[in-house]
Amino acid sequence: MKMETAGRLRRLPPYLFAEIDRIKREVIRRGADVIDLGVGDPDLPTPGHIVEALERAARDPANHRYALDLGMPVLREAIAAWYDRRFGVRLDPSSEILPLIGSKEGIAHLPFAFIDPGDAALVPDPAYPVYRATTILAGGEPHGMPLLEENGFLPDLDRVARDLPRRARILYLNYPNNPTAAVCDAAFLARAVEFGRRHDVIVCHDAAYTELAFDGYSAPSLLQVEGAREVGVEFHSLSKTYSMTGWRIGFAVGNADVVAALGKVKSNIDSGIFQAVQLAGVAALTGPQEFLPAFLETYRRRRDVLVDGLRALGWRVARPRATFYVWARVPDGFTSASLVRTLIEKAGIVATPGSGLGPAGEGYVRMALTVGEDRIREAVGRMGKCVRSEK
Ligand SMILES: *Cc1c(COP(=O)(O)O)cnc(C)c1O
Repeated sequence: MKMETAGRLRRLPPYLFAEIDRIKREVIRRGADVIDLGVGDPDLPTPGHIVEALERAARDPANHRYALDLGMPVLREAIAAWYDRRFGVRLDPSSEILPLIGSKEGIAHLPFAFIDPGDAALVPDPAYPVYRATTILAGGEPHGMPLLEENGFLPDLDRVARDLPRRARILYLNYPNNPTAAVCDAAFLARAVEFGRRHDVIVCHDAAYTELAFDGYSAPSLLQVEGAREVGVEFHSLSKTYSMTGWRIGFAVGNADVVAALGKVKSNIDSGIFQAVQLAGVAALTGPQEFLPAFLETYRRRRDVLVDGLRALGWRVARPRATFYVWARVPDGFTSASLVRTLIEKAGIVATPGSGLGPAGEGYVRMALTVGEDRIREAVGRMGKCVRSEK
């Protein structure tokens, strides 16, 4: 029997990374030494005190049961304290904070609370694929906002306003940005809040990378903007800051109605975050933060090795002030896809084609700084040989 899937599944864009994965497996099978700069998954281990908090909490039978109350009060308090310390913004732990099973989970469920069939969401292009895919799963229409280099990879909100789709409900933003590694200032977030208020659109800011910043840059938060609570929700993650991608913990903060609606969706779908992981999250947010400058120094050194190396090869590439990505213009004679294919087949290097993250990503590749400095140096050496030989 042929299993016919629901229309919503068939409407999803093809999973562009499936082809890269296939070639990567093939190259590994042939015995090649593959350097994977494809996925943004930290190689640095979770700090020890967080692992120890998990160990302790896992031994306590009180933590073995369902965690049904949309997040432990102690975690909500820890999030509120962290947010106040970091951004100088006070949040009500019971109504303006919602712990999540990773921020992706909350971002993915948001459209189910606010998008009806036929509604639109304003989605950056290129972008983290979740905004677009889950808008489609909820029956909505993603409306792309190109992120262009000449605009600093910020969407042109005047232009978006000019051809605003009918029934636009959510504006997605993500700074520091994946994949372009661009940053924004508070003035841009203020314009986004103004846009949201004027057009009655929820401003959803994905802030997964606010803590991964270099060279003195400090990323602003949406809720620092006057009036942001009226229209805004912000998603944070412990994944990147604390090297906890596998643990699945993050949180939403912001407008109480949005937070409540998201909680309602979640309470019908999941049964909470393992309490031992919640307590480990408390340890992460309230414990020593000294590991972070060391993590950042590691990423910064890797960034410089890659950026300087690519520039020496004649590539056009900016030195990012945040995230652990490098967003490079592809050399002449290549497309995103042809460069990625050449890199994996000829050099054993996995990179992400910009075009796989949206049409405006064509002409770029993304490389993640999640392998050691020596491997990045090795990757630059291999790229020098194989990309030149293509010309
Ligand atoms: C990594 C990432 C996330 C989410 O990660 P979680 O592990 O689900 O918290 C969210 N948004 C962007 C842009 C990311 O790159």
